[in-house]
Amino acid sequence: MAKAKEAKKLNKKSETRVQTFYNYIGGEWVKSASGEYFENINPADTKDVVGRFPLSSEEDVNRAVEAAKSAATRWRRTPAPKRAEILFRLARILERDKDKFSREMTREMGKVLKETGGDVQEAIDCTYFTAGEGRRLHGFTTPAEMPNKFAMCVRQPVGICGLITPFNFPMAIPSWKLIPALVCGNTVVIKSGEDVPLSTINLIKSCSEAGIPAGVVNLVNGHGADVGAPLVNHKDIRLISFTGSTDTGRIIAEQCANQNKIVSLEMGGKNAIIVMDDADIDNAVEGSLWGAFGTSGQRCTASSRLVVHKKVYKKFTEKLVERVKRLKVGNGLDEKTEVGPVINQAAMEKILGYIEIGQKEDKATLACGGNRLTKGDYAKGYFIEPTVFTDVAPDMRVGQEEIFGPVTSVIPFSTLDEAIDIVNNVKYGLSSAIYTQDVNQSFYAMQELYTGICYVNSATIGAEVHLPFGGTKGTGNGHREAGTQVLDIFTEWKSLYIDYSGKLQKAQIDEFEI
Ligand code: NAD
Repeated sequence: MAKAKEAKKLNKKSETRVQTFYNYIGGEWVKSASGEYFENINPADTKDVVGRFPLSSEEDVNRAVEAAKSAATRWRRTPAPKRAEILFRLARILERDKDKFSREMTREMGKVLKETGGDVQEAIDCTYFTAGEGRRLHGFTTPAEMPNKFAMCVRQPVGICGLITPFNFPMAIPSWKLIPALVCGNTVVIKSGEDVPLSTINLIKSCSEAGIPAGVVNLVNGHGADVGAPLVNHKDIRLISFTGSTDTGRIIAEQCANQNKIVSLEMGGKNAIIVMDDADIDNAVEGSLWGAFGTSGQRCTASSRLVVHKKVYKKFTEKLVERVKRLKVGNGLDEKTEVGPVINQAAMEKILGYIEIGQKEDKATLACGGNRLTKGDYAKGYFIEPTVFTDVAPDMRVGQEEIFGPVTSVIPFSTLDEAIDIVNNVKYGLSSAIYTQDVNQSFYAMQELYTGICYVNSATIGAEVHLPFGGTKGTGNGHREAGTQVLDIFTEWKSLYIDYSGKLQKAQIDEFEI
């Protein structure tokens, strides 16, 4: 569903005043092997071309992996605190350029300026926090079972990592992968979302300015099939860290399994907020509004289901719909805008398709929204009215499938156990939330909700970088990004035994006389 795919392919001779960008391989900014480019379009104004970017292929991936290979030994042997010093410099550069990067991100991705500021800030936070691991990367010591023998465990880098990222957090998600990979001593090849190549380029330029040596970080721009697939299938790539849709993740997981590669997957979600009858309704409405329509609903953690107690259902939905109707949709560069466009034509059509399914197949009540906005400036971009379905049954398609747009479904319930079943009974397991004033209900919900993240009295979005991030079931494959838990993705454990007894000692066989 890449916007770039819809843009016409440009050849190397095309005359254009649009800025041209390059791949980053072995410390150099280089053209793709084909010399061809694709356009990156502003989703709020499709006449605005953000830039042209190299249309890359397997040949470029091979070059990038070669560069990462040649830098690997030196980077692995660089002491981790020294690697971290470079990353602290990187964090300061990102802070310095935060405003510029945020504006450029809004132009290529569409979300409002405050949110792109938050995206860049997340990359900054991730970089400071994870660089701190350069002076920890803790292993452990433990007693050996024989005398005069020492046992300990250390982390070792995995090798060359392939990082594949989506469109919706154009700098935060690449940083969640890149920074831990680097502090752990790996070298990397990144393939960013083809709808948002500029933000990854901004991150990589900053890496270069910070002094990350040539070949340690490499970037190849292009499409999933042309760049992502060759990266996954390259024999020298030891690990794939992927964030994106569950469908793509499943293909990558199968390919990695066949090659015995390490793979970490962060995929889709169908997150829900429970609103209990004792909840502070105004607070729950504000949280639902932010959770459902922030980033135009294009967050893996978006609150796309609102599971509301029947006793407060009418009051809650009336207040919600009244607020949703007042949301200001527009170009994210306008500071008054609350909801920007969706990422591309294909995404817009998919979302409008779900709105149709909600009305025709599901027969849910369309309480507000439901249309593409086409008047005036809206006609230039991919704008959809913030949409609320009410009277949604839990098994309806709009209540089960990831829509990834400004659409939410309100589902009524009678008991907390029923609400928990509704929340858990989808194929995903990323984020959940409950609004209640009752400590017993909130702890019971925290215990029973089978998601990787759970909030009390706040929406399903708003993760912080020092806590593990990821989900259960169809959302992931058991790994967690962020926090210190991410180190388990980008390192492998090595157990070390040092026998200083001067003789042969046999574990599990020698008797020790007490
Ligand atoms: P997507 O799956 O379409 O693309 C993600 C990346 O995979 C892109 O870079 C794409 O080019 C690449 N790709 C596509 N086909 C490939 C292939 N065959 N081999 C290798 N790479 C390939 O996802 P998207 O539309 O960019 O992002 C939206 C999805 O991401 C949603 O489902 C959302 O829930 C999910 N997401 C999850 C998290 C999380 O942490 N769980 C975070 C953000 C987004």
